[in-house]
Amino acid sequence: MIQDFKPCHVVNEEIGRGKTYTLITYGCQMNENDSEVIAAIVENFGFIFTENMADADLVIINTCAVRKKPEDKVTSLLGKLSILKKERHSLKIAVGGCMSQQQDFAQQLKKRFPGVDLIFGTHALTKLPDLIKQIFTDKRTVIDIEEHNRVHEGLPSRPKNTFHAWVPVIYGCDNFCAYCVVPYVRGRERSRELESIIKEVHELVSSGYKEVTLLGQNVNSYGNDLYGPESFAKLLTCLDQIDGLARIRFMTSNPKDLSNEVIAVIRDSRKICEHIHLPVQSGSNRILELMNRQYTREYYLNLVNKIRSEVPGISITTDILVGFPGENENDFLDTLELLQEIKFDNAFAFIYSKRMNTKAASLEDHISYKEKEERLSRINAVQQPISKMINERLKGNTCEILVEGRSKNNEQMLTGRTRSNKLVHFASSCHLEGQLLNVKIEKALTWNLVGSLQDGEK
Ligand code: SAH
Ligand code: SF4
Repeated sequence: MIQDFKPCHVVNEEIGRGKTYTLITYGCQMNENDSEVIAAIVENFGFIFTENMADADLVIINTCAVRKKPEDKVTSLLGKLSILKKERHSLKIAVGGCMSQQQDFAQQLKKRFPGVDLIFGTHALTKLPDLIKQIFTDKRTVIDIEEHNRVHEGLPSRPKNTFHAWVPVIYGCDNFCAYCVVPYVRGRERSRELESIIKEVHELVSSGYKEVTLLGQNVNSYGNDLYGPESFAKLLTCLDQIDGLARIRFMTSNPKDLSNEVIAVIRDSRKICEHIHLPVQSGSNRILELMNRQYTREYYLNLVNKIRSEVPGISITTDILVGFPGENENDFLDTLELLQEIKFDNAFAFIYSKRMNTKAASLEDHISYKEKEERLSRINAVQQPISKMINERLKGNTCEILVEGRSKNNEQMLTGRTRSNKLVHFASSCHLEGQLLNVKIEKALTWNLVGSLQDGEK
């Protein structure tokens, strides 16, 4: 079911006039995208963004519940904000996102941090304008964590830049991997209508956007609920025909659902970038089964071979979970061996943390945190030279990059991203943000590349 958002019914610019807000986001790209919606809603009230939390009239924290670390950061931040609020009573504090949606969290948070004015869940974005109005008119803590599993269309958004946009295509997840909280905090899978996505991408292109990343916890399930199998391949095919759009990315792909049809569309497309994020989580069949990932190591290896033979040069990245309950040294060695065998462009490794309500929460977590940290370092020690070696192969090549802006560590350099999703730094004093340019790769590092601009005297 689609629910339309009607900003004109709720906008009241008086509330935010002369006031500032700050927005802190944890977690995945879906949260980044939600934060762009939150920013637009708040700015429709007249609030102006500030990076300085100490001065802000409204502080919004968009939380992540996937791992314990971001949760701990939120708790520590709320401690600081509570002190700030004692000095400045007019400060309003709002907590949204996946943590808010967790069972009992809102009541516990209210008890522990009574200074919090608003707790809103992942399903509450359409109601956010009303909720914000309430906290500026009512002193009580407002809580909205109601679940409804609807798709919101027409939400406003304030994208961070003018060349790349996130486009959610499917919300929620039905896979219930044993370690994962996402199905509990993001609800059941529900896809956006094809026409609505195509219309949005057309509008983005008319506004000058060159690249879109289609978002979903498992983009390969896109449309199963609305149109049946192979809908994701059809969506990609439709988007590939949009004139003026230069690049299409998507994430995340659950390996169990990546079909031959999707691989063929990537192969045949001009716009779909040669990069796929394909989280494997573990190289041990025993652990994959305990995780309920619904594929085997052999299936995964075969899939990677198929992708590489159909789309030569494609970059493949992955996620690894270390220290899942019951993971023994042999299981872990299977994962290390898989990294050696596949040679991913990059692997993002995470230490398992127990998540409320998940199936794995009842399994015995038998190894110490120190051992988990050691496993994490061993993953990185195997992967880093592989990433560097793959980057080395690009030396001397000329690659097209989409320029993202000034390098974070060096003001003299600009940074762009190749189609294979590698960051390239290059010297330039010009404003080239949002341009597609060619750079020659001169130096390969583990995490990025250094190049020189090939397009004239820029
Ligand atoms: N939908 C994606 C994953 C989303 S969560 C997929 O199916 O692969 C992003 C990553 O966080 C996961 O790939 C996993 O490696 C990690 N993760 C999920 N739950 C976790 C937990 N309980 N502890 C630590 N890492 C976790
Ligand atoms: Fe979590 Fe698995 Fe769904 Fe990914 S596919 S969001 S890991 S339950």
